[in-house]
Amino acid sequence: MLRKHWPKVAKVYWCPNCNIPLVSSKCSKCGGEGIEVKLREPADARLAFKRDIEIALEASREKFGTEKAFKSVMGKSEIILLNKTTHIDDAKELVINGNNAGILLFNPFTLKWEFRPSYYGALRILSDNVAETIIIKDEVKENEIIPFKGESIDAGKYVILADPNGNPLGLGLVLKSGKIRVLKKYKYRFVYEISNTRATINDVLKGNIEKLEKQVEEATAFIKKMSNKVGKQVIVSFSGGKDSLVSLHLTLRSIGEPSLLFNNTGIELPETIETVTKVSEKYGLKLEVADAGNAFWSSVEIFGPPARDYRWCCKVAKLVPLAKKMLKEWPMGALNIVGQRAYESLERAKSTRIWRNKWVPLVISASPIQYWNQLSIWLYIFKEKLLDNVNPLYIKGFDRIGCFMCPASRLAEFEEVKKTHPKLWSRWECFLCKWAKKIGAPKEWITLGLWRWLGPASPKKVLSKKTTFNAYEWYSSYSKWIDLKPIEFDEEKISFKLKFNKQLNLKAISSIAVILSKTVKFTNSDVIEVSADTLKYVFKGEGKVEVTTYKPQEKLVEEFLDAVKIVYRAYYCVDCGSCATLCPANAISIANKKPVVNKAKCLNCRACNDICPISEVMVEKLVAALIFKKYDAWRRRTKRSRYETAQLLAELMRKVKLSSSPISSGFNK
Ligand SMILES: [Zn+2]
Repeated sequence: MLRKHWPKVAKVYWCPNCNIPLVSSKCSKCGGEGIEVKLREPADARLAFKRDIEIALEASREKFGTEKAFKSVMGKSEIILLNKTTHIDDAKELVINGNNAGILLFNPFTLKWEFRPSYYGALRILSDNVAETIIIKDEVKENEIIPFKGESIDAGKYVILADPNGNPLGLGLVLKSGKIRVLKKYKYRFVYEISNTRATINDVLKGNIEKLEKQVEEATAFIKKMSNKVGKQVIVSFSGGKDSLVSLHLTLRSIGEPSLLFNNTGIELPETIETVTKVSEKYGLKLEVADAGNAFWSSVEIFGPPARDYRWCCKVAKLVPLAKKMLKEWPMGALNIVGQRAYESLERAKSTRIWRNKWVPLVISASPIQYWNQLSIWLYIFKEKLLDNVNPLYIKGFDRIGCFMCPASRLAEFEEVKKTHPKLWSRWECFLCKWAKKIGAPKEWITLGLWRWLGPASPKKVLSKKTTFNAYEWYSSYSKWIDLKPIEFDEEKISFKLKFNKQLNLKAISSIAVILSKTVKFTNSDVIEVSADTLKYVFKGEGKVEVTTYKPQEKLVEEFLDAVKIVYRAYYCVDCGSCATLCPANAISIANKKPVVNKAKCLNCRACNDICPISEVMVEKLVAALIFKKYDAWRRRTKRSRYETAQLLAELMRKVKLSSSPISSGFNK
């Protein structure tokens, strides 16, 4: 597996005297020094809940045929740390008594969790003699086959490999032949000596109280400082998750009552909606909802399932409803407190603590908890007795709160959704079945979650190896994905010509084409010509687009794709409102699912053509791939970057849309 490098990692320590995890190296309970716990990056460990222990017991049964193996590793510990990481699918490292006790791996083919004890874990299992053990005289090598006649043990189960003195050497997998393959050799045979104290959550709080109080002091001072500096209304983004709950609580104790802003994507789990309502009522705060309504479910019929490399959903269900709400409620700007943490994702790890909203530049966002790790978040929740306000999904084994079928999820997470919300999941599965039929994909495209990638991504190739789905063969599924298809493409130095499989709606095209140039005319009832300085764009009703230049230019391909994007916007508009909401000149309206551009107002910035999810996602990721027969055609050198578009928009918005309002400065990213 490819390891990504994290610019910032969280650190977790363990007090050997008190037997508790620590967020800093000093234990405030005994005054002693903690040992650093070695975990995979970004090492954002949390406390394990009831469902996590259930999963570990299931995983122990799956591979050792008994729960006793994990029970013996766990011993009497109540405080267990869990560190989410990746394998083929989901994986969780376990820390028990200050030692890495092993890892839980989710097998995407059997949809079961498996427990692989570490050296420490194996030592505990051996001392209780609760799993099959094989005595080996020599050292073992990883992947070596041991000719043992393990007839009494079922194939697929694990055995502990130990030397004659009872020291664990490695972990073996029983093969169908009865032989054993060495899955893991224990290279680091070392155990931290930790006291046998049976710690509780109160002990953990005591051990961390000094550091936690420092963090709280810093965060509240930060909120106060930001509020004074920005001098505008304070809104707290509340997602129904633990991080935004802590941010809200910190805001309440530093500056009093903010407004709550919830983005209802329309694909939230019911527990999340309930949590949001409950919390706003409990604190008596005004709840503002940026509501996507049915936008996801109606758009998915046009776009097909969203994927990690095909994220139209964020625009339709998040960005646009949020921008609409912010421009309506806080046109003069606001301070937006957000519960973002660096260890959540690589993107967030690179983010600063204060930033300007990309699409609504007068809104300044700030995260008081940017550098808190999950353990601090949970300790704060326990300390402030906020458990009643926490989304119950966490206790049910969910790590993240968000859209229930987010393509960034692991299959293990979908399994939890399936178990807890079967009806919701089957609605999604029905949609996937329909789409699989449309693109000619086998059932594994659904069961192995291959739909989570549009293109031939490497995890998709790994997962589909033993199926009839060919992850390399992207062209045929792409061409079945959409009804309006490019069928003939001709590229020359001064012209690009494209033919579609269908006739074009010239009326709808003509009302968007003014973004290219104001000289749009019907040369006859079946041809539109748009003339610019050195270019001519022609749209033909029979199903053709041609872009010709009088002067050869490097960016002709971009001019051509802008024309193609207009064709698709006219054909597929899902009425998400991104163009109308973000147009800096307020020049766009949408009528009967067709964008209409006011020629007099249009600034010809073409930002709408970059922002629209039909252009940016469907045309860039799918149509361009089909035209140029290259699945990553969107990686063109000449393509305008999202950053450029956002900069352009922010600048134009300041100049035109908000010319009458005072602008605060100094918080640019
Ligand atoms: Zn201690």
